[in-house]
Amino acid sequence: RHVKKYFPIRSGLLSRVVGNVKAVDDISFGIREGETFGLVGESGCGKSTLGRVMLNLKSATDGEVIFQGQNIHSANAREMQRLRQEMQIIFQDPMGSLNPRFLVSDLIGEPLKLHRRMSGAEIDERVVQLMELVGLDASRRNRYPHEFSGGQRQRIGIARALALEPKFIVADEAVSALDVSVQSQVLNLMMKLQKELGLTYLFIAHGLNVVRHISTRVGVMYLGKMVEVSPTDDLFAKPLHPYTKVLLSAIPTPGIKKERIILEGDVPSPANPPSGCRFHTRCPYVQDRCRSEEPLLRTVEGDRQVACHFPLI
Ligand code: SF4
Ligand code: MG
Repeated sequence: RHVKKYFPIRSGLLSRVVGNVKAVDDISFGIREGETFGLVGESGCGKSTLGRVMLNLKSATDGEVIFQGQNIHSANAREMQRLRQEMQIIFQDPMGSLNPRFLVSDLIGEPLKLHRRMSGAEIDERVVQLMELVGLDASRRNRYPHEFSGGQRQRIGIARALALEPKFIVADEAVSALDVSVQSQVLNLMMKLQKELGLTYLFIAHGLNVVRHISTRVGVMYLGKMVEVSPTDDLFAKPLHPYTKVLLSAIPTPGIKKERIILEGDVPSPANPPSGCRFHTRCPYVQDRCRSEEPLLRTVEGDRQVACHFPLI
């Protein structure tokens, strides 16, 4: 609720704060238990920062993050230790997030070693279970990450994230570095695991095509703001926000000829965002009011929300 994350810009000998990068600027939204919420937007729009603030891996500048009825940013250390286990993250680059000097069995078993009182044999048994769960050959558990393919390494990252039986998982560009065919295998695995384990996902991606098949609902971010939240099918059938329409026009759809909308101009700086609607400097539908008055995220058409003075209804 009203989450903000500003990063101070420092300058000069005294490192005085001369401004703020408003990475996340007053965002309110909810993720429902058991759903996959797709979060999309260009790189630098704040989606990864929002994901990290939601897990309390980064503190919020302002606002609240409520998980299971509790504001996680005011949880004490003991409560936070419990919450940490319920919320996990899967990163984009499995090589960067997996220590190359660790055996796969140690990588997957490490959270158990840290958080559970389990013997070595019990941990090993659980590692075998977890590897089988994500479709890896458990007889290879005493090898190093570089001996696995990119898709397999992402499965290792998923097994590690699942070790403590979390409820909520943030997947930050989890399949973006993989080939398209491997991407769909990992997405299918994630959907299977969701069903079997009752997981809730925040699935972050820069493009809409990746979130299409996995998400129940989609949130679109632009320059630190949430500009549209819609059920996936509705959003693809009829985007309400001009920026969503632009993102959609970039995806080829078999059998449908559509015009690709190319945005003019660069993404403005999040340190100095445009007045009024932040998208007004690039919006094909801009009108006078957009330059001065900020559109707030409001509910239209049942389960859909949009932040635009002139939504494409
Ligand atoms: Fe475009 Fe105006 Fe809507 Fe912003 S408020 S997206 S500038 S039409
Ligand atoms: Mg990112």
